[in-house]
Order: sequence, then structure tokens, then C-alpha cells
Amino acid sequence: MRLTVIGTGYVGTVHAACMADLGHEVLGVDIDAERIASLSAGRPPIHETGLEEILTRTMALGRLRFSSSLAEGAAFATTHFVCVGTPQRPDSKAADLRFVNAVVDGLAPHLRPGSLIVGKSTVPVGTAARLGRRLAATGTDCEVAWNPEFLREGSAVQDTMCPERLVVGVSSERADTVLRTVYGPMLQAGIPYFSTDPATAELVKVAANSFLATKISFINAMSEVCEAAGADASLLAGAVGADSRIGPQFLEPGLGFGGSCFPKDIRAFAARAEELGAGAAVAFLYEVDRINTRQRRRTVDLARRILGGTVADRHIGVLGAAFKPGSDDVRDSPALAVAQALRDGGAAVRVHDPEALDNARSAHPDLAYALDVPKACEDADLVLHLTAWPEYRHLDPADLATVTRQPLLLDARNVLDEPTWQAAGWTVHALGRAKAPATGLVRGEPS
Ligand code: NAD
Repeated sequence: MRLTVIGTGYVGTVHAACMADLGHEVLGVDIDAERIASLSAGRPPIHETGLEEILTRTMALGRLRFSSSLAEGAAFATTHFVCVGTPQRPDSKAADLRFVNAVVDGLAPHLRPGSLIVGKSTVPVGTAARLGRRLAATGTDCEVAWNPEFLREGSAVQDTMCPERLVVGVSSERADTVLRTVYGPMLQAGIPYFSTDPATAELVKVAANSFLATKISFINAMSEVCEAAGADASLLAGAVGADSRIGPQFLEPGLGFGGSCFPKDIRAFAARAEELGAGAAVAFLYEVDRINTRQRRRTVDLARRILGGTVADRHIGVLGAAFKPGSDDVRDSPALAVAQALRDGGAAVRVHDPEALDNARSAHPDLAYALDVPKACEDADLVLHLTAWPEYRHLDPADLATVTRQPLLLDARNVLDEPTWQAAGWTVHALGRAKAPATGLVRGEPS
């Protein structure tokens, strides 16, 4: 089949490459001419395991190419996947749909009869229906379906080639047949396929993200109580998560979630539910968001407390800039939010990350960066572990202690092996444990 993928960012690049790998002939379209030039040279805009290989292989086979012309896209195929961003609106918590609207408006005059537009972007429920009406007003017989994307950054190729489920929201059998053909090899491999109405498909995505975000904030709320009560949040999480009805995933106390999805998705969901008159049903999402934001402030407060009440003029080595391990994405990164707050508090902060340094530099140009961990931690009064990259778990704490000013660690992700670090002479602090010095701590709402 011929497909276009419009918007070649995180989701679009991976989707385009993987659809070409499934055997389709794919044209990736983006308004960012620089991005198109770079993709056309085989360079993906993001770091994802296996992506560059698939990109170069499918391009060499002639199954994948890129263009900055939407009209060319409309002429190329009759199935168009829309993967543009849906960020938070600057003036409210709702989603900004201007990019999605622009794609549909831009495609409309050029669409071939019977074309299907398939949204993959995360959108407020009702968007597919609204766009369908918008298209119908132009007199075309083209349809809009929604096929939300569930890939996780860090395992995006694997998640796209082998998803846990496919969800499609369609208004006609014709649209369902097209999508069953697109995903034919996956259906044959037994991947569950949920065919729903568009509104349900749109809601599946935000409901899933809301559940995961709630689970993370739940354990972080428990972590706050643990600190107040003198209990240990990591031990608590392990024991609670051992219940198979609960499970250990997303139940790790720490710095909380960030990235380009969870924060804006739960806000947009709550805002949309309010528009629909169902705001009370998901008002808890505002609390989930507040708990999450508070973890960043609590980490900064704990660092200040560990350093005796102020971070001014202290050297801090930061391990991690990406919003999560396995990704070079720094959008709404909790690690960089903490690093920036410490810097704003007068600390000299030097940040290391295995993959995200370039993106971090562009987003936070006033922070200092280091290409290796010892350099980041040189003369540090405190080392902060903020993104749980596996390589940080394999650091030699004895070696690292030789470059720091003092062996003080704040493990804000609660994953480093505390006994090993202690055996090498480090004092280890973590959120959710009540043993940090009380100096300067303001319990409750941090300053
Ligand atoms: P992104 O910002 O990485 O990419 C968006 C791309 O769309 C950019 O390259 C931009 O230039 C392009 N674009 C904007 N307007 C355009 C237009 N009119 N025509 C053509 N291209 C245009 O975004 P992303 O992270 O890939 O997310 C895309 C959507 O998928 C969002 O709704 C997001 O919430 C959702 N999503 C993202 C992830 C993720 O992990 N990143 C996972 C699941 C769902």
C-alpha cells in the first residue's frame, strides 16, 4: 500500500520507517525543511534503537522518502497518517490543535476521492468527528479515523513493530478495512486489534496515559507520607507492587514524570472533560499533576537541605538530562527542571547525559555540560542522579569519589544500589526516606 505520514517528529519518523519496513511505500511529509533534508540523508531527528538502520534500509529499497509538500503527499496516496504535535495551549491547559487543523485544511483541496485521514496525534475526544465535519463541508467523500499511538520513547521501534495492541476508531467498514490492510502483518502475528468508534479510540489514549500518570503520582504521594512518618518509600513500593493486582511497573518513587506526553495529556484531558460537563469525574488529574510537580521542588529542597540550607556557590554534578532513559528527548524533563532550579539558586551545575546533551544545551543554554560522568562530578559538593540511565547503575562509586569534593549523593530515582555506594564511602540520600538532615527543610509546601 501507499501511505503518507504527515509530521516526521518522534511519532511520525518511527511510524514512517516501520510502515516502510512492513512493506508499504511511504512518503514522510513535514513543514520543517531542515528536518526533511536531514531525513532524506538518512539521519533521524531522534535517538531510538534501530531507527537509523530501518530508515537507511527502507530508503535504499526505495520504499521510503521524504518531502515538504503536503500537496505531493495528498497526490501520493489515499491513506494519510497525521502525526503532528498537540502541545498544551499557551493560554490554558487544553490541547493546541492548530497543527492538526492545518494539516487537514492543507490536505483537503488536494485529496484524491475516497481518501482516509488517520490521526495518530493525541487529541481531545471529539476531534475526529469535528475534523470529519470540516472535511465534509468541502464537499469531499473523504473520511477521518483515529488510530492513537502508544509507543514509548526509548523503545519506539519495538513498540511500533510489535505493539501490545492496535486501537482504531472508525466510522465506516471501508476505513476499518483500510486499517486492517495497513496493519495486516501485525494482525496475522496475533496482535490484538480493537476497532471502536472514533471517540472511544481517542479516549483510550488519554485514559491509558492518565492511569499511568496516576500510578506514578500515587507512589510519590506515598513517598511524601513515608518521609513524614519515618518509613522507606522504596521498600513500601516493592511490597505494594508485589500484589499482582497492582504490579511493580510505574510504582517507583522518585522525581516523577515529564516529557512531551503525560503532563500535557492529563491537563488536556481534564480540560476537555470540563467542556463536556464531566470535569468532576477527572478532577483528580489536577492533583496527580500537582503531586508530580511537587516532586521536582522536593528534590531541589532536599539538595538544599543536604548542603546545609543553601546551594549558592556549591558545585553540583547532575547525572541525566533526558526526561527518561533511552531517549534524547528533553521536553519538560524533570532532570533539567531540577538542574535549572539549582542553577537559579546560585549553584554551579554541570550536567551529563549519554544521549541528550545537544538537546539539553539548546533548551537550557545557561547550564554547563560534560561529556563524561567524572567531568560532570569534578569538585562536586553533591551528585544528583536525576535520569535512570542503566549506565549510571554500573558506575564505580569508589572511582567517582576520587573526583568529587565530598562523596554526597542524592538518588532522586531511587535505583542506585545504596549499600555499594555506602561501602565506597558515599552518604546517600533519596526522596521518600526520612534520614536526610533537617537543616533548612520546610515541611509541607516547599519554597
Ligand atoms: P514532534 O513535535 O516530535 O513532531 C511533530 C512534527 O510535526 C514536527 O516535525 C513538525 O515540524 C511537524 N509539523 C507541524 N505542523 C505540520 C504541518 N502542518 N505539516 C507537516 N508537518 C507538520 O511530536 P511527537 O512527539 O512526534 O508527537 C506527535 C503526536 O503524537 C502528539 O500528539 C503526541 O502527543 C503524540 N504522541 C507522542 C508520543 C511520543 O512519545 N513522542 C507517543 C504517543 C503519542
